[in-house]
Amino acid sequence: MFESLADRLNGVFDSLRGRGALQEDDVRAAMREVRIALLEADVALPVVRRFIDKVTEQAVGQQVLRSVTPGQQVIKIVNDALVEMLGGGDEDASRLDLDAKPPVVIMMVGLQGSGKTTSTAKIAKRLREKEGKKVLMASLDVNRPAAQEQLAVLGQQADVATLPIVAGQQPVEIANRALQAARLQSFDVLMLDTAGRLHVDEALMAEMKAVASVAVPREVLLVVDALSGQDAVNVAQSFTGEVPLTGVVLTRMDGDARGGATLSMRAVTGKPIKFAGTGEKLDAIEEFHAVRVANRILGMGDIVSIVEKAAESVKAEDAERLAKRMEKGEFDLNDLRMQLQQMTKMGGLGALAGMMPGMKKAKQAMAASNMDDRVLLRMDAIISSMTPDERAKPALLNAKRKRRVAAGSGVEVQDVNKVLKMHQEMSKAMKQIKKMGGLKGLGALFG
Ligand code: GDP
Repeated sequence: MFESLADRLNGVFDSLRGRGALQEDDVRAAMREVRIALLEADVALPVVRRFIDKVTEQAVGQQVLRSVTPGQQVIKIVNDALVEMLGGGDEDASRLDLDAKPPVVIMMVGLQGSGKTTSTAKIAKRLREKEGKKVLMASLDVNRPAAQEQLAVLGQQADVATLPIVAGQQPVEIANRALQAARLQSFDVLMLDTAGRLHVDEALMAEMKAVASVAVPREVLLVVDALSGQDAVNVAQSFTGEVPLTGVVLTRMDGDARGGATLSMRAVTGKPIKFAGTGEKLDAIEEFHAVRVANRILGMGDIVSIVEKAAESVKAEDAERLAKRMEKGEFDLNDLRMQLQQMTKMGGLGALAGMMPGMKKAKQAMAASNMDDRVLLRMDAIISSMTPDERAKPALLNAKRKRRVAAGSGVEVQDVNKVLKMHQEMSKAMKQIKKMGGLKGLGALFG
């Protein structure tokens, strides 16, 4: 899921190339694209507006870290804002609140087909398995034929008790009977699977309110289908204010929803997303992790962590030392090796893909020679097989020496040539960077 949004943002951030502080014009240009991308992903317009305003305000004037590009820095800011929009890193908010006198009542609401019954059984199973709770489930759905039987079957599969079915009872009566049974038989948790409708209507809302007033639920979870896009947002809006929602369950997160619903849901309901349904099986449910989903939306989790790592761990002196050497045109194979080692440390080629200015050329050269992360290690081995003199002066490497290096590192002579070619490409790219941005440009390259 979310592919198009990630692609789009990739394109946008590629074009940010200034240094120093983030300029307002650049940020606004980038945000125009982010806005379109979010709208295309079906995020509700007011939510998009709020998001853009906030990110713009945060980004303009921010100093670009010395070892990342402005694009990377903006991605980090967008990422952090997304995490917040999705409910923040506040894991407590997305946990079920069962801290009350048992039986604690969890009421499940939502439209027909949203995955309500399945989610009821999934959550019940989790509570039994992970928290050792004794759970009773009851279906209050008297509209849909066989809805109560469906829950009974799921209960058997999940090894969770269900309230015996009594034909002809109305939802409030069933709720009362379930409460009584739960009390008498000392259940910890009572889960009420309420009726759905094809559309939100007054009768449905009246029924939900009536049930809520007798059952006094600790949690009221709205179940919505992530694939239904803007509809899911409308549904959430209708339920909010009518019933005292405490959280949202997003189902079909295993499908390829465009992600807009996820992004809007928290903003529209003001309630945390507590679970994500990821399949039809009763184990296919996960706690909702804002950080993970934001990373998935951007498709740039690696970049975000690069910026974080760069901020913490990359030594400015290294970059500066290299910069000084570069100014004297002294980029040798020792420096290349240091670069390779740093790239490996920072997550390999994939993570760095095309994001750093000047690295593009080298990247193309790498792609042309089918480079992957194992190749980084092999290149390191090749350079290690050279003498210090050869590393400092690659021109010394004649055919005979190349054969020795190849034998020493267990590769072919052509592999040695590739390393030398790459060194040349990088030397060239660096000279360009020096022209473009001097020390700061180099800082970016030598992240
Ligand atoms: P209800 O009418 O809201 O109670 O919906 P159901 O629980 O009966 O679910 C409707 C259909 O959606 C069933 O076929 C479920 O197996 C399926 N379903 C529910 N949750 C998920 C999910 O997270 N992923 C997928 N792929 N299917 C789901």
